[in-house]
Amino acid sequence: MPIYKAPVRDFQFVLHEYLNVEQYKDVPGFADSGPELMNPVLEAAAQLCEEVLFPLNEKGDKIGLKYADGKVTMPDGFKEAYKTYVEGGWPSFTCDPAYGGQGLPDVLNMPLMEMVCSSNLSFGLTPGLSHGAYNALLTYGSDALKKRYLPKMVTGHWSGVMCLTEPQAGTDLGLIRTKAEPNADGSYNITGGKIFISSGEHELTENIVHLILARLPDAPPGIKGISLFVSSKFHVNEDGSMGERNKIRCDGIEHKMGLHCSPTCVMSYDGAKAYLVGEKHKGMRAMFVMMNAARLYVGVQGLGIGEVAYQNALAYAKDRLQMRALTGAKFPDKPADPIIVHPDVRRMILTQKAFCEGSRALALEMALKIDLAHRHPDPQVKKECDDFVQLMTPITKSYLTDGGFEMASLAVQVYGGYGYIGEYGVEQYVRDARITMIYEGTNGVQALDLVGRKLPLSAGRYLRSFFHPATEFVAKHKDNPAMAEFTKPLHQHIGYLQQATMWVASRGMGNPDEAGAAATEYQKMFAHVAMAYIWARQAVIAQQKLASGSDKEFYQGKIDTARFFMQRILPANLGLLASITNGSKSIMQAAI
Ligand SMILES: Cc1cc2nc3c(=O)[nH]c(=O)nc-3n(C[C@H](O)[C@H](O)[C@H](O)COP(=O)(O)OP(=O)(O)OC[C@H]3O[C@@H](n4cnc5c(N)ncnc54)[C@H](O)[C@@H]3O)c2cc1C
Repeated sequence: MPIYKAPVRDFQFVLHEYLNVEQYKDVPGFADSGPELMNPVLEAAAQLCEEVLFPLNEKGDKIGLKYADGKVTMPDGFKEAYKTYVEGGWPSFTCDPAYGGQGLPDVLNMPLMEMVCSSNLSFGLTPGLSHGAYNALLTYGSDALKKRYLPKMVTGHWSGVMCLTEPQAGTDLGLIRTKAEPNADGSYNITGGKIFISSGEHELTENIVHLILARLPDAPPGIKGISLFVSSKFHVNEDGSMGERNKIRCDGIEHKMGLHCSPTCVMSYDGAKAYLVGEKHKGMRAMFVMMNAARLYVGVQGLGIGEVAYQNALAYAKDRLQMRALTGAKFPDKPADPIIVHPDVRRMILTQKAFCEGSRALALEMALKIDLAHRHPDPQVKKECDDFVQLMTPITKSYLTDGGFEMASLAVQVYGGYGYIGEYGVEQYVRDARITMIYEGTNGVQALDLVGRKLPLSAGRYLRSFFHPATEFVAKHKDNPAMAEFTKPLHQHIGYLQQATMWVASRGMGNPDEAGAAATEYQKMFAHVAMAYIWARQAVIAQQKLASGSDKEFYQGKIDTARFFMQRILPANLGLLASITNGSKSIMQAAI
């Protein structure tokens, strides 16, 4: 049986010591961000995830979903778990008080998001996507539409889904064919089919709100002719009450590698009544605005799986006895030493620890910057935060999801053969994590976004939002000998990253294939340097806390992990830099 214990201490560290969220107490929504109020929230979220959601995860994977006559049935326990989630008020945590929400910032909700993803990702997709649909309506819907749909979405009594993908239109949404015909009363009839719609049909909520991309009859071809509509399984009257069944049907669910309790639905719309959200033909603009938060959330899915995989691998490595340590028996009274004594096992466990704790700091920092970009009263701070979010979104989504999969695979490796068989539960994490690298924009497409849009935009302004503070940090700590083991490699690798950036920018201008061929490696390099900056900052805090004598084991763990990251993971950038500067020829001229 796998285990899961929410990493509450690390959430506290990141929120209150690393990000020091309390410093923003005058920014709307942050008044209650201190530990006295946040600790009970973290404990309650941990209890929900450990005791309600996690016990359903393995069972859900084994039993899976049933589909018959347009209906999807979940294994016993899921409906009750969702009810508990709603009764706890969790869906409304960050929602607008005007529609019944609690108005708290996203950064304070991120720990819950991660815990849900660790404990039961299949379950987490329904509230996660619902929040995306809520955001789309909140940002682009008219007041009338918001009053109609949002209150019940905020409480979690209705869920929301995002309906973009069609068989011929995945990455390239310009190929969408679903049609929207205007009616005399101002509504529209949607006709067409969507595939791969997560939670498109289920029995957790009484109604499902669909955010649909479709084309109007006068739409220009391609990506500029797509509009966003809202529809629902049951019509919603103007006063928000539920009406008759709409012409929306689930024609089936996919049988897939993982996430066996997340219904991935084939949906058909047969003249379904819908309303325009935002302006005609501007549906993609609406999607782009929501994309940063949605991509961060998918990144957190990777992190969540990485964390639970790490916890299980660590516990197993301390328990499993095989062979003796290379330097002689460490537990001579036992028939063999626990495998945690072996350097290669320690390497795997430390890789997981460095990934999880570094990624948690990045995810929470991203959420904080998204909050400040929306809520901070100073326009300059807003702009700086938004620049950072724009730059770091593709890096965060891809690093956290590539890493989540890799950490799950490492957990299987630590378990050996027991990892590969079903009984111990870790192989599920590999299967569940795999999709996060694909949906919400594949990681290859994230890399293109980074080199093709984010680097050239604003004449390097986005880049400065990372390089300036990182370089200032190095300058500030360069004379501190205790920090040299962290600041020296950080400084050196900022240099390598700048070299790679120049190479990609200059070669890409002459031949876009050069930038395209370098994109994934460049994205990885950037992520490694961002992690090095995070680990160096964590090390400074840990050194100060160690000097004051509190919580020694925790802070020593931070310093040790920072050292491991600098010495064993960051150097991979040298190989990545060599690949990048070798250019695109071996890729583009190869006979395949
Ligand atoms: C379990 C699951 C849940 C999903 N949930 C939803 C949902 O709720 N709503 C929804 O609308 N969709 C959903 N999707 C769809 C998902 O977002 C798409 O699968 C994804 O966007 C990729 O599209 P595609 O599968 O058509 O792949 P394609 O777009 O065909 O891509 C295939 C490969 O080509 C690469 N590629 C494509 N274009 C380029 C390019 N220009 N440059 C470099 N490489 C390129 C991609 O990176 C990828 O490796 C879900 C899918 C799954 C499997």
